[in-house]
Amino acid sequence: MRNLWRIFTGINNKGDKRMNNYQVLLYYKYTTVDDPEQFAKEHLQFCNSIGLKGRILVATEGINGTVSGTIEATEKYMEHMHADSRFHDMVFKIDPADKHAFKKMHVRPRPEIVSLSLTEDVDPLEVTGDYLSPAEFKEALLDEETVILDARNDYEFDLGHFRGAIRPDIQTFRELPEWVEENREQLDGKKIVTYCTGGIRCEKFSGWLKTAGFEDVGQLHGGIATYGKDEEMKGQYWDGQMYVFDERISVPINQVDPTIVGHDYFDGTPCERYINCANPYCNKQILASEENEEKYLHSCSHECRVHPDNLYVKKQELSEAELEARLEAIGETLQAETSR
Ligand SMILES: [Zn+2]
Repeated sequence: MRNLWRIFTGINNKGDKRMNNYQVLLYYKYTTVDDPEQFAKEHLQFCNSIGLKGRILVATEGINGTVSGTIEATEKYMEHMHADSRFHDMVFKIDPADKHAFKKMHVRPRPEIVSLSLTEDVDPLEVTGDYLSPAEFKEALLDEETVILDARNDYEFDLGHFRGAIRPDIQTFRELPEWVEENREQLDGKKIVTYCTGGIRCEKFSGWLKTAGFEDVGQLHGGIATYGKDEEMKGQYWDGQMYVFDERISVPINQVDPTIVGHDYFDGTPCERYINCANPYCNKQILASEENEEKYLHSCSHECRVHPDNLYVKKQELSEAELEARLEAIGETLQAETSR
């Protein structure tokens, strides 16, 4: 268990580093990029030339990226970025890895590096919540007068979150302001502290909270990723795993008293394994064991299981009789659906 920990979280111990010839970098910077289109083109060329893979968004408001590569390539990348005055102080969260965490390299120009889709956009360089260090965040977490608000999506929360945090019922970040407006009674007059994966969403969201009339707003500086690497905090008070937007899907955070908070979608047993529904029009992310994934035909519902474009049914080339038998095993029938 200990060894696994080191592999996935990079608690530095030279003896365990031999399998980790790769690194995953998570970073962002709010700064001015004059020509995001041109920047993206040149940046993509550079990333390809050193063999990185990943996803980078560039906007006039800054840069937001996750990339993977060999230690050599990622070091070269960080050096390259720090030599640029716009990114000279950019903070990289570094995870050791044993392979790439992405299949391709994308650098995309966008209107925003994170999107709240506000009619009046918030510039975090002008207004944002107070920055809390991991130690200050822990204080806030233990303070009963403070509301800890998770600024991520529901499926991220369901895999893991800070103990006692509020879970906004949202599927995308853009829905967060509306959720706040509808749930003001939970937040009004309270000290609010927000957190997200690497801190970038909170920069904008905590700024928006201030413009929306909340006075005492803080944010976990550097996000959960930084908190998890903090040598004093050791990820304490984090339950479950942290969802990440790359092929790893989840990474551990709590090194003190780790727990599992995810539940299998089908039988409710503890589970931390995300799959996508095999109906391509649904594609919902659900937690499921390998056994249940197979049993329920990789699909979230009866409708998805019998959908004519179901990818699992197609790939397995299940005949109608086979599909019928598989459905019968879980108390469903094809007939009722097709004769409707
Ligand atoms: Zn589905």
